[in-house]
Amino acid sequence: MLVIKQIVPIIQATLVQQTQSDQAVYHLLLDSRKLYNPSQALYFAINGEHHNGHEFVAELYARGVRNFVIEENLPAHVKLPNANILKVTSAVNALQQVAAAHRNQYQIPVIGVTGSNGKTMVKEWLAKLLAEDFKVVKSPKSYNSQTGVPLSVWQMNKRHTMGIFEAGISAKNEMTALQKVIQPSIGIFTNLGTAHDEGFDNRTQKFAEKWKLFEHCKAVVCCAEHLQTYHDIVTKTSFSGQPFTWGKNEQAQLRLLDKQTHLTQQQTQLKVQYQGENHFIQAPFIDEASVENILHCVATMCLLGLSFDKIQRRIARLRPVSMRLELKRGMRNTYLIDDSYNNDLAGLKIALDFMSTQDVNLQKIVVLSDMLQSGLPPEKLYQAIAQLLQSKAIDRVIAVGEEIKKHQASFNVLDVVFFDQTKDLLESQVELARLANAVILVKGARRFRFEHLVHQLQQKVHGTVLEINLGALVHNLNFYREQLPSHTKMMVMVKAFAYGSGSAEIAHLLQFHRVDYLGVAYADEGVFLRESGIDLPIMVMNPSEDTFDKLLQYDLEPEMYSFKVLDEFIHFLKEQQTTAKVHLKIDTGMHRLGFVVEEVPRLLQVLQQPDTQQKAPLDYLSIASVFSHLAGSDEATHNAYSQQQITLFEAATKQIETALGYEVIKHILNSPGIVRFPEASFDMVRLGIGLYGIEANQIAQSQLQSISRLTTTISQIKYLQPGETVGYSRKGVASHTTKTATVAIGYADGFSRAFSNGVGKVMVNGAKVPVIGNVCMDMCMIDVTGVEATEGDEVIIFNEELSILDLAQSIDTIPYEILTNISQRVKRVFYLE
Ligand SMILES: *Cc1c(COP(=O)(O)O)cnc(C)c1O
Repeated sequence: MLVIKQIVPIIQATLVQQTQSDQAVYHLLLDSRKLYNPSQALYFAINGEHHNGHEFVAELYARGVRNFVIEENLPAHVKLPNANILKVTSAVNALQQVAAAHRNQYQIPVIGVTGSNGKTMVKEWLAKLLAEDFKVVKSPKSYNSQTGVPLSVWQMNKRHTMGIFEAGISAKNEMTALQKVIQPSIGIFTNLGTAHDEGFDNRTQKFAEKWKLFEHCKAVVCCAEHLQTYHDIVTKTSFSGQPFTWGKNEQAQLRLLDKQTHLTQQQTQLKVQYQGENHFIQAPFIDEASVENILHCVATMCLLGLSFDKIQRRIARLRPVSMRLELKRGMRNTYLIDDSYNNDLAGLKIALDFMSTQDVNLQKIVVLSDMLQSGLPPEKLYQAIAQLLQSKAIDRVIAVGEEIKKHQASFNVLDVVFFDQTKDLLESQVELARLANAVILVKGARRFRFEHLVHQLQQKVHGTVLEINLGALVHNLNFYREQLPSHTKMMVMVKAFAYGSGSAEIAHLLQFHRVDYLGVAYADEGVFLRESGIDLPIMVMNPSEDTFDKLLQYDLEPEMYSFKVLDEFIHFLKEQQTTAKVHLKIDTGMHRLGFVVEEVPRLLQVLQQPDTQQKAPLDYLSIASVFSHLAGSDEATHNAYSQQQITLFEAATKQIETALGYEVIKHILNSPGIVRFPEASFDMVRLGIGLYGIEANQIAQSQLQSISRLTTTISQIKYLQPGETVGYSRKGVASHTTKTATVAIGYADGFSRAFSNGVGKVMVNGAKVPVIGNVCMDMCMIDVTGVEATEGDEVIIFNEELSILDLAQSIDTIPYEILTNISQRVKRVFYLE
């Protein structure tokens, strides 16, 4: 906590207005959607790449926020009579300075973790491994950015005895700022990979920048082989501490003598030497990355002086925990958010924020256990939890555990019920029956075994699953936003179930992230979105006469593409004596739907032609936008054609605006167009496939993240003799003794029959294997000869490595078709990492 008058000099602010210099600040707020406890918050208005934080100042004032850090003058009409207003040149710097001042109040060991991969895992594991010896405060999830680090460090309080924070950078000169905030006494350097290469001149420079985190560290844990490569750079920096290395290298302090992988037990046995003695460590993982992360943890524990006895015991107990927040469909119209990983206040906040990205019309229910290891006195902890739940307008709380029950009094403003044990809740039919029409957050410490509850509530997800990474989706959205001038609006196309990804869930996320418009193909798709609580404007591309009443009823805005539709719609509006918004589609060369350019004068005439009652169509219609569509924006060969389309569009919109006497929203770019013709972004763009991680013109593909993973499972394993055949029409012939696996995906799920007979390749336990025989309706067979594969194993159809693009190319189609063909019977699971 700091008070305003302390903060002013720390951030060298100009006091625009001061009303209460003793006001204590307990929360640092960057995002108006994450507000709680307004009177104790300090809001930093950041003019960022995607949003200008100053736009939310008035709203936050109305919601009770009284302390603001700004970097731009507020418009004259924004009046904040009772607020402290501090002006600085950079609100991000100010945030970092406040956090650094907070950090300065504590003299505890702090571990700073950086590197390209593994930061979050190492941090999370170390926090678990050290929990018995220290009261640990750590970054929530992967809060490692210029703004995430200050928020992480701000959580420190006087009860903590160890801090573990991660720092991530994507460009030059960023680390110095993070170093000042974290001030680590011990460093961990995980490794140097390709991530964010584009932000640096070369690898050496990237390494040097990352190493700046360790400037004042006494010791830095890193891999000896790694350090060798960059030894010269380290000696050139002002780093005065000692590296603490692990590796095969003889000079390594912690030497790795041997490594044995046991596939069946999913274990790796490590033989290490430390201070002349040999030790064995059983790591419960087999993948390279996890083993590397574990060695970083072991080295750090050695450095901290823990005995090998403790190290061995605790490493053996590590579990491959998923750090993701999952959103699953539950029974009785519920969504479940399953988060049994983070059991602290920061984790609860993140989960509640995730909850608010989903359906606003459903009840919000939180099932919560005792919170262990919070670093706060219980009294304060449960007060804080209750306050947080209240500020998020949670409709009902189900509390499980004896600790939380002791603090009942804190929860009395909420609708709350208490159970001593998970078992009691599971036996309460009354309580379980109330879990309907709701978003339910299930968050419990491990020993409460809330997975039993999740299991009961969840619709069974087995067989084929499409997993969707909502974090990656937001990353992609922001990538496209960065390409555009800040005034350009964004329409996101969510037609065809959001390109197969699940329209309601994705639309909610887009609404939360403040896109301006949604676009669908048919009225029914728009109705579905409205019924699931979306209130963004929605454009419908294919309106038909039989859906006009639905359009009005659900406030959907049709595209007018021909004189026939226009005439029918005007007729309908006259009958109903009402008005509506429409979008005019100009055909500049796609030759699908739209008024061709030559028809524009006649269109304008029709629109302005008064009828016998002296009413023109424009008295019934308001033109929400005018748009066109590029036919070849994904290929450079068509650049001249695209340019010509853009020129035609500009001319047509000029005519329209002149005739109307006002400006309209103009848009022509789809995803590949945004990357190729940013200068033609006009007032809005229509993002489609790019949001889903695919960049159809391949210019910036490396900057997008893949959002989905399609997996299925092996139902049965068979062994065939040479000459025996597989499947329909006996197309698959075993040329030698063959091991096949029958998997639970067929063409009815969207796995095209074109993948038959070796064309399709899928992944089983790390091996890429071909389809054998013809793909059936609900199943197909794969050749797993020589591959370790058993019944129940996962089979990957596509993911980050097995790309949708390759899959599409192998059957001569495009990613759009692969995505939209995934049938609705395939379960969708959404998650946030
Ligand atoms: C589908 C669609 C888009 C989005 O196209 P992408 O290539 O997926 O970005 C944009 N505009 C119209 C009219 C569309 O039909």
